This record gives sequence, C-alpha cells and structure tokens, in this order.
Amino acid sequence: MARRGGRRNAASRNAKANNAMQYLETVLLENIGDEDLSKQAAKQLSDMSKRHSISLNQGVNRLICRGCKTPLVSGHSSRVRIRNGVLITTCLNCSRVSRKALGGDSDE
Ligand SMILES: [Zn+2]
Repeated sequence: MARRGGRRNAASRNAKANNAMQYLETVLLENIGDEDLSKQAAKQLSDMSKRHSISLNQGVNRLICRGCKTPLVSGHSSRVRIRNGVLITTCLNCSRVSRKALGGDSDE
C-alpha cells in the first residue's frame, strides 16, 4: 500500500476540504433535529475548519457552540435572547454565551 505522489497539490486539497465542509453543512442543517447526526457533523465541521484554516460560513458558525461543539438549536440546546440589538445565544450544554450585534456594525 505505497502512497504515490509525495507532493500534494495544496489547492486541490483545499478544494476537497471545501467540498466536504459544504456537504457537512448541508447534513447539519438538514438533520438539526437528529441529535447524534447533527452533533457529529458539527464536530467534524469545526475540526476541519481548524485543520484547513477555513472559516465556517456565518449561518453555520452560529449553529455550533464554540465551547462544546454542540449544534445550537434554539429552544432545545440553546437559549436565544435579543437585548439592545444584540443577539445573545446561550449554550444549554456548557453555558457558553455568544453575542452578536444585529443590524450591521454600527458602534454607538
Ligand atoms: Zn456549548
């Protein structure tokens, strides 16, 4: 089982990772109600994004807890509140809180 081609093409490796991540995003979004499956997809997504330095797209990023990699489903595994134009998401698994300003980046 010799491996051939010592020099790998970084670009194609990245493209493959991108494809895999897009697929995982779909799996996550379509199976958000399936705890096991969505958990696995979320963990793999965050592993891959770290390994390949690819950032998750915003929508998916917000669905995964940074603390414990659990998919955040509002009303189920997370609590979502809006206060002063800030979206506050609390993970019910590890209690990690993430904040996101709504309505652009206007500082006041
Ligand atoms: Zn968490």
